[in-house]
Amino acid sequence: MRIARFSIDGNVAFGAVEGGGPDGPVLDIIRGIPFADFELSGTKVPLSKVRLLPPVLPNKVIGIGRNYAEHAAELGNTVPDAPVVFLKPSTSVTGSGDAIEYPSFSQELHYEAELAVVIGRMCREVPRERVKDVILGYTCANDVTARDVQRRENQWARAKGFDTACPLGPWVETGLDLAAAGDLTIQCTVNGQQRQLGRTSDMVRSIEELVVHVSEAMTLLPGDVILTGTPAGVGPLSVGDEVAVTIEGIGTLTNKVIKRG
Ligand code: MG
Repeated sequence: MRIARFSIDGNVAFGAVEGGGPDGPVLDIIRGIPFADFELSGTKVPLSKVRLLPPVLPNKVIGIGRNYAEHAAELGNTVPDAPVVFLKPSTSVTGSGDAIEYPSFSQELHYEAELAVVIGRMCREVPRERVKDVILGYTCANDVTARDVQRRENQWARAKGFDTACPLGPWVETGLDLAAAGDLTIQCTVNGQQRQLGRTSDMVRSIEELVVHVSEAMTLLPGDVILTGTPAGVGPLSVGDEVAVTIEGIGTLTNKVIKRG
């Protein structure tokens, strides 16, 4: 199932995305929330009539750095012995179709297409064999990074944590098991031109390993998101660019870069 969060006429709701009718895909509005028992109401609205919101409102977004060997190499880094873990604040999250605001303190903004793991239940110290039970599903992410700031500052809070630095969406796909999620094509285009093309099977640490590693340190809450790292091919974004992250079996997350007003 694909679960979207959206607003229509000032109301916010979750809905299950269903295939095309005469007006294209529709959303069957969910009664309840996707983190608990819920049912489909049968009330449907065309996807084209709503504004998509970030599919979840994470308490925290946990980023993983240098999880694809080719990408680590292109920035002159090696794959570290332990995963690089960082946080992006909840205020950096934005949805598909929303703008990425080019920050005033950077001259080198980069896209990073990533598979995002959405946590479905509160958990801590998750053993490997239980990882599948704590995942609600998967969505597309762009770990937008002010690369010049990242080089300048030891901690990446500003470089990766500014407002709109974490587009998520367009929805959460709940129908992929761990094996499937670990072997998907992941792609980034800028203005329709391909910039990144990788497979999640090239991750150095698997989804299971990352959930074990992160949850060893901190409690994960429903809606929290783990970004699993980006494949090779990162590069610059300019004001006016349209950047799209597409992951096989999930969908496409599209955002336009604007100057912060
Ligand atoms: Mg990244």
